[in-house]
Amino acid sequence: LKVRLHQVSHLPAETRDGRRLALRANLDLPEEVSFAREYGAEGVGLFRTEYLYVSRRELPSEDLLFETYRRVVEALAPHPVTIRTLDIGGDKFASVLSLPEEINPALGLRAIRLCLKEEGLFRTQLRAILRASAYGKVKIMFPMISGVTEFLRARNLVGEIQQELAEEGIPFDPDLKIGAMIEVPSAVAVADLLAQEADFFSIGTNDLIQYTLAIDRGNQEVAELYEPLHPAVLRFIRQTVEAGHRAGIPVALCGEMAGELLYVPVLVGLGLDELSMNPQSLPEIKLFLRELSYEECREAVEELLKLTCQDEVKEALSARFGPMI
Ligand code: PEP
Ligand code: MG
Repeated sequence: LKVRLHQVSHLPAETRDGRRLALRANLDLPEEVSFAREYGAEGVGLFRTEYLYVSRRELPSEDLLFETYRRVVEALAPHPVTIRTLDIGGDKFASVLSLPEEINPALGLRAIRLCLKEEGLFRTQLRAILRASAYGKVKIMFPMISGVTEFLRARNLVGEIQQELAEEGIPFDPDLKIGAMIEVPSAVAVADLLAQEADFFSIGTNDLIQYTLAIDRGNQEVAELYEPLHPAVLRFIRQTVEAGHRAGIPVALCGEMAGELLYVPVLVGLGLDELSMNPQSLPEIKLFLRELSYEECREAVEELLKLTCQDEVKEALSARFGPMI
């Protein structure tokens, strides 16, 4: 198995007709960086940084954050590591932050909202990320972006910190790419405007499905109604990709959908440039991608987008691509 893994990890991630995609890893913990390498990830598409804040008695210092990011970045260089800024709140808790109890936490003070409110917390993390950017290729992305103002506030803060570091003589990458996660329906609606300000998009389907369909992603009572292939979800992904491409920026997808074999033809046909997933899923997703034709996936998606519900989409998809899986 080791030998095969090694062989697969060195094959290019491209369709039969030569459409190249970047296949990257999602990391929840820095230790997982070894899996990313072993399974042939071309870098990290989503480094969740919450673990550094969860189950701790004190907030992590800038140096601790910096050393952690730096280890991951150095281990994967020259491949990029996309560091997502703190996404606490909603379904992700951290007692160290003593956040207010909310009736509706998924719609409350979470992710970028919390960071823009608690600017000190955000600045510490941004300084650490920027310092790590001197040791490899770092990209930064903000979670739960709902519109342009929010994105610009976060982006401007990065600019301020770059200036601060320059004055202190601390090295960082001045060309660092700054992206928006697209996981709130309002961000899809203004994706054309956001694409003017962001260097890349990364679609977080775990949340995008939740907010689009109004289905709590963690609630077993409604789990059956959580539909990745709902026509609304597919249209939103398409709108996001089109808006990004019209503005000339790449569009990634880093939700759980990226690691599902049956969804791969859809995501390829919708034109995504990057898929980021659990490292363990990478080899089989890549092998399947190499069996597919981009042209056929595009044609299939045109047909799928005419269908009215997830059941129809799933049936058509299984009929066409099921036998290959
Ligand atoms: C997502 O929402 O799809 C995502 C990748 O982020 P998380 O699952 O951490 O919210
Ligand atoms: Mg999310």
